Amino acid sequence: MLNRRLLRKVDLLLKKERGTVYKDPGGRLNICLCYPNTYHVGMSSLAFQGLYGMLNRRADVFCERAFLPDEEDIKEYERTSTPLFSLETKRPLNRFHLIAFSVSFENDYPNIVKMLQLARIPPLSRERTNKDPLLLLGGICATFNPEPLAEIFDLVFLGEAEGGIEPFLELCGRVAMKEKLLEKATRLRGLYVPSFYSVSYDKQGRIKERTALYEGTQDRIEVVRADTLDGTIRHTILTPETEFSDMVLVEAMRGCPWSCRFCLVGHIYRPVRHKPLEIVMKERGVHQRIGLVGPSLSDYRYIRETLQEGMETSITSVRASKRTLSLLGYLKGRRSISIAPETGSERLRRMINKRISEEEIIQVAEEAFKLGIESLRVYMMVGLPTEKVEDLDASVRLIKKIRGLSRRGTVVVSVSPFVPKPFTPFQWVGMQREEVLKQNLRYLKKTLSAEKGIRVFHEVVKYSLLQGLLCRGDRRLTDFLLRMNPGNWKKDLQATGVSEEFYLYRTRPFEEPLPWDFIDAGIRKETLWQEYMRAMEEAKDI
Ligand code: SF4
Repeated sequence: MLNRRLLRKVDLLLKKERGTVYKDPGGRLNICLCYPNTYHVGMSSLAFQGLYGMLNRRADVFCERAFLPDEEDIKEYERTSTPLFSLETKRPLNRFHLIAFSVSFENDYPNIVKMLQLARIPPLSRERTNKDPLLLLGGICATFNPEPLAEIFDLVFLGEAEGGIEPFLELCGRVAMKEKLLEKATRLRGLYVPSFYSVSYDKQGRIKERTALYEGTQDRIEVVRADTLDGTIRHTILTPETEFSDMVLVEAMRGCPWSCRFCLVGHIYRPVRHKPLEIVMKERGVHQRIGLVGPSLSDYRYIRETLQEGMETSITSVRASKRTLSLLGYLKGRRSISIAPETGSERLRRMINKRISEEEIIQVAEEAFKLGIESLRVYMMVGLPTEKVEDLDASVRLIKKIRGLSRRGTVVVSVSPFVPKPFTPFQWVGMQREEVLKQNLRYLKKTLSAEKGIRVFHEVVKYSLLQGLLCRGDRRLTDFLLRMNPGNWKKDLQATGVSEEFYLYRTRPFEEPLPWDFIDAGIRKETLWQEYMRAMEEAKDI
């Protein structure tokens, strides 16, 4: 029996939606697309929305949705023994053929476990039977390193869904037996079956060998990409219950031309693809307000034309460059824009390959204030490799200089600790120690918050460390994930015997196999290493 209060709550959400898809589940592949965070967060994700629309455009598929319930609802689910159910037909998740998780953030991994527990689906793939749904992992986290989730999911899709998920869906329609299906799926591009491989470790805990257990299983799995942005992934459901409310989100570009050395987006989404203007306009439809989505929108090939169309376009983040200066006029009337110099230190900007000068940062900030933009959000980082006290001082000076450009404007500084990510030149680097990160954040906060018109926000260090642990982790984190309480994860880490030192703080040598080495993302490991070495060279004081 499903709990009435929970059902009513879902009905209220559905009433506010426009674009929800309802079908007869009979005779179709029934997929429950899950987002491991709340409805509000999941429905604000264009990737999630796009996938829902894309899957439902197939006549042989009915795709529904499920989210992590709010805190108080989790208690209600548990108290009333209600199994987690889908939104559209309100069916318990274990009645679906396929459960697909779209995962964009490492810190959502524990929520996957929670949702499976609420759904009464055994979280480990080896404990599930042919009667349980098949569990598929997708999204950016699946693409750069699915290994911490390898024992939970039956299958992983590496890459961009519109580039190659169709053959898998067709296979699901033809083959019902789980084992047969997995065997056949492993021959498809982008499909990875973790249980078909075993991994051994040496005495130091480093990966010794990764072995394919069955003949014909691919050693390396290629990341699948869409050739063009043709609008297959597009905003599907409008609801006021999202971050962007009634705004239609349109992905303008994928990938970024700048390749900052710390940035995953700048590496894994290559090549850069620009959506043709006519498709942007088509997706806009009759809506007056659109939110353009893309990593560096001032570099979008048709940005000028898009802004000239006279529609209200939400672009919040711009690159502090000469090109942006010529676009700022279109943003007149906005309350706020963001720039991301990452650091005030020229030396560190050179090291991370953030190719913007202080002069460009100041020019863009000055022009923004002149246009009446009241608030400038500035993204900064701490804990970058080779960071020194002088670099923090340079950041303080830069922020004060920006603040000094306007008498009334506000500078909102948003600081995040650097997290080394797979498939970037810093994938080998040890993360900065917790005490140092906290100390540096305290220093920035104390020095800058004392100034009028400057506000400082920063991420919580323990969550950045958790992100660092999970993004470069391996299969040995499974027990930790199963029992983990995010608020107190260090205690759980100790209890499961996982070494924080091993995963977080040490710098790996080039020869050490990395958990994600089997993924062919089109980026040579040697090239990344050369870039890392170049960064270390450029970090030296001239
Ligand atoms: S940090 Fe920004 S500009 Fe640099 S590569 Fe990433 S998305 Fe591009």
